[in-house]
Amino acid sequence: MAMPIRRLSDTIANQIAAGEVVERPASVVKELVENAIDAGARRIDIATSGGGLGLIRVTDNGSGIATDELELAVSRHCTSKLSGDIHNIRSLGFRGEALPSIGSVSRLLLRSRTTVEDGAEIKVEAGRVAGPRPAPANPGTLVEVTDLFFATPARLKFMKSERAETNAITDVVRRAAMAVPGIRFTLSGTDRNMLEIAAAGDNASRIAAVMGRDFIENAVEIGAEREGVRLDGFAGIASFHRANALSQFVYVNGRPVRDKMIAGAIRGAYADIMSRDRHPVVALYLTTDPAIVDVNVHPAKADVRFRDPGLVRGLLIGAIREALGVAGMRANTAGGASALHAFRTGGTSAYSGFAPEERQRERHGSASASPYRPFEGFGEDAQAVFTHAVPSARIDTEIGPGGEPPGQFPLGAARAQLHDNYIVAQTEESLVIVDQHAAHERLVYEALKHGLHSKPVPAQMLLLPEIIDMPQEDCERLAEHADAFARLGLSLERFGPGAIAVRATPAMLGEANARQLVVDLADELADGDTAAGLERRLHAIASRMACHGSVRSGRRLSAQEMNALLRQMESTPGSGTCNHGRPTFIELKLSDIERLFGRR
Ligand code: ADP
Ligand code: MG
Repeated sequence: MAMPIRRLSDTIANQIAAGEVVERPASVVKELVENAIDAGARRIDIATSGGGLGLIRVTDNGSGIATDELELAVSRHCTSKLSGDIHNIRSLGFRGEALPSIGSVSRLLLRSRTTVEDGAEIKVEAGRVAGPRPAPANPGTLVEVTDLFFATPARLKFMKSERAETNAITDVVRRAAMAVPGIRFTLSGTDRNMLEIAAAGDNASRIAAVMGRDFIENAVEIGAEREGVRLDGFAGIASFHRANALSQFVYVNGRPVRDKMIAGAIRGAYADIMSRDRHPVVALYLTTDPAIVDVNVHPAKADVRFRDPGLVRGLLIGAIREALGVAGMRANTAGGASALHAFRTGGTSAYSGFAPEERQRERHGSASASPYRPFEGFGEDAQAVFTHAVPSARIDTEIGPGGEPPGQFPLGAARAQLHDNYIVAQTEESLVIVDQHAAHERLVYEALKHGLHSKPVPAQMLLLPEIIDMPQEDCERLAEHADAFARLGLSLERFGPGAIAVRATPAMLGEANARQLVVDLADELADGDTAAGLERRLHAIASRMACHGSVRSGRRLSAQEMNALLRQMESTPGSGTCNHGRPTFIELKLSDIERLFGRR
C-alpha cells in the first residue's frame, strides 16, 4: 500500500538541497565568498582547518545583516538579491539556499553587524536554529562553519584527502579573486600556508597576482565585442601551454564558470597551433546583458546557458585567433590519406615485440612464444643511446642502399632520416618509418619507470641551481615527492615558501627546460589528487618527464644512432605506441606498395 503524501521537514528539504549546493568544503567557501562579494566587502578573510571539514571561517567588511533578518538569512528561499525578475540577475547569489543548506549539514554560526545597529549572532546546528542574540561584532559579517557534513555521514565518506580539499578551496578563492580586483583576500589556516592577494587597481595586476607574472608576459590582450557580447582578458601564447586546463579562468558577468561550450571554443581557437594533449592558459571575461544568459542551470551556479551559443563561440574563437595572429594559417593536411591507410601502424603491428604492455605481460606467462628479448631494463650501453652528444651528423656512406643489410631485425636497417625526425628503415619485405621523437619518448618513459623500481636513473647536475617561483601548494606537492623525483634523476628542493630549487635533471632528457618540466610535474600532481594509487601517479610523472626528452626530434642522427634506436625499440615492450597512444612507427609491406602502384 502506498504511503500518504507528506510535506518534508525544512531540515530534510535543506539537506536535499545541500546535496547539490554544497558538494564539498570548497563549495561552502565558494558560497560564503560570493555572499561577501555581493555584500560589497573590500576585504575578505578566509580561514580553514582539516581541509575545510573541521573549520571554514569567512569574515568580510561588507554591508552586514540587520538583526531581525538573521533568521531569514538562514531560512530556505530567502534572499535580498532577487526582486521578481529571474532574467535580470546581477548578483552572484539569488537562490536563497546556501546558508540554510550549509546549516542543515554542519554547525553554522552567523554573526553580523550593520552600520546602524549593534552586532548579533544566530546559530544553526544540523538544521536547528538558535537565536538570534546580541553579540559583539565588527562591522560586516562572520560566518563560521564547523564539523561540515557531521549531520550527513554518507557525504563525509565521499571526501577526498584533506590535502585535496585544501587545494580545492585555494582554487575557489583564486578563481573568485580574479573577478574582483579591488577586494583584498587572505586565506590562512592550520592546514595551509598563508595566501594573501592584495587589492589591485585593475584586472591585469590581479591576474598577474593570481596566475603569475609569467602569464601576463606570455599572453596577448583581448578586447572584442559582437552583438552586445563583450570579451576582455588575456590569452596565453601557444608556446605557453600547460598539462591541464586548470589554468583557464573564464567569467561570465563576473561569475566564474566552467562551461563545455566555452572550453571547446578555447580549444578550437588554439587547434592549429597547440598539440592536442596540451592546454592553453587564459583569463577571459565575458560581459553581456544578463537577460541573454541563463545562470539558473544548476544550484552550484557554475554552469551557464547563452541564448545564442554560436555567437559566443564565434566571438571567443575569432577574438583569440586574431589576437594571436593565427587566423588563416590553417594547415592543409588533406590528401595522401587514402594511401596512409595501407600503412600498418606500430600499435597494431603483428610483431609481438611491439605489443602494448598488457598483451606483452600476458605473453610472458606463456613461455617464450615471443622471439624477442623481454624488457630487461636499460644497461649502461643503452643509457648511452640517450646521453650521447650528437653533432649535427650527416648520414651517408654507412647507410643508403649500400649499407648494412636489413637482416632479421623486425624494424630493419636504417636507410635515411627525413625532415630531421623520420627514420626510414628497410626490412626484407617492408618499409618502416619511425617517428623518432615519439619512439624516443616511449623509450625514455620505459627507462624512467625502470628507474623507479631498481637503479635510479642518472642525473645531470646543473651548473647553477634553477630557482622557480611557484604557488605554495605546488611547492608542497613537489617537495612531498622529492624522493621519487630523485629516483628519476630530478633533484629538487624547496627554496623558501614559494619557490623550488632544481639542482639536477635526468641526464637522458638532455638539455631539459627545467622550468617547464617542473611546472608540468606540478600540474600532474595537482591533477592526480584523486585516489589514483602511488604507482599510477609515479608512472604519470615518468610519462610527463619523458615528454620533455624531445632531444631527438629535430635532430640529425648518425646511422649508428638510428640503428641503436631501432634495436632499442625492438627490445622494449610497448614501444610500438608513444605515451599518448599514437604509433611510433608505421610499416608498409612491399605487397602494399605494389598495390598502391597498381602492380597487384
Ligand atoms: P543568496 O546569496 O542566494 O541570497 P544565501 O543563503 O547565500 O542566499 O544568503 C541569504 C541572504 O543572507 C542573502 O541574500 C543576504 O541578504 C544575506 N547574507 C548572506 N551572507 C551575507 C554577508 N556575508 N553579508 C551580508 N549579507 C549576507
Ligand atoms: Mg549566497
